[in-house]
Amino acid sequence: MHFFVKIKKIILDTLFPVSCLSCGAPEHWVCEQCFAETKMREQQSCPWCEKIATLKGKLCFFCKEQKKSRLDGLVAAVSYENPFVKQATYNLKYRFASELASPLSEILLKSLLENDISLPKYVVPVPLHRRRLRWRGFNQSQLLAEKISAGLAPPVKIEMLDALERRKHKKPQMEIKKYRDRLDNVKGIFSLKTKPSKIKGARILLVDDIATTGATLQECAGVLKENGARYVFAAVIARQTMKQN
Ligand SMILES: [Zn+2]
Ligand SMILES: [Zn+2]
Repeated sequence: MHFFVKIKKIILDTLFPVSCLSCGAPEHWVCEQCFAETKMREQQSCPWCEKIATLKGKLCFFCKEQKKSRLDGLVAAVSYENPFVKQATYNLKYRFASELASPLSEILLKSLLENDISLPKYVVPVPLHRRRLRWRGFNQSQLLAEKISAGLAPPVKIEMLDALERRKHKKPQMEIKKYRDRLDNVKGIFSLKTKPSKIKGARILLVDDIATTGATLQECAGVLKENGARYVFAAVIARQTMKQN
């Protein structure tokens, strides 16, 4: 970890000591009881229209026919309204609390297993821009992706492939209100970092912490598919629905 990132973390940990984000019990970010009580999403829905419930979060029949979505499926582990998850993902990002990747990836894994997804060849994290990576000290999506690649089908370790690169440093999606503007904000900012031959015909699982509009995931899936990936689906801790805006 970068020196300044360490300092920031020490200051934060002193000012706000670690306690369960849900019930306040000391020492852990999430206590055993609250972890066990985390309510998983019982139903997944189509990643494009977000309206039709589908098995394993695959595209619904209509959206598949329209061929607009480059993402073939999306599993969101819990509801965005879940207060623990809201806090945890926020702290993972802004408090440099990489320890939170562990309980959060457990939640992601649980959801992937419950949804009985077919195993991917690679787990690919949504990348951060290198400037942001330097500031934060880690890419939260990569931490989650590492844990998923190790925990999805033990003892088999599915390869985590850092396949994508974020080119331009644009505004964080969270700061943009309108759905259309969010789409424009991420258009064309990702590119492939590995050889296309490596992902040719592959089934790929993209990993991110929160999907806000799905625009980022759509862009990443687009790049992977243009370079030969056969099937691209994604896993996120939660998804914020805002297509109707
Ligand atoms: Zn608790
Ligand atoms: Zn649909």
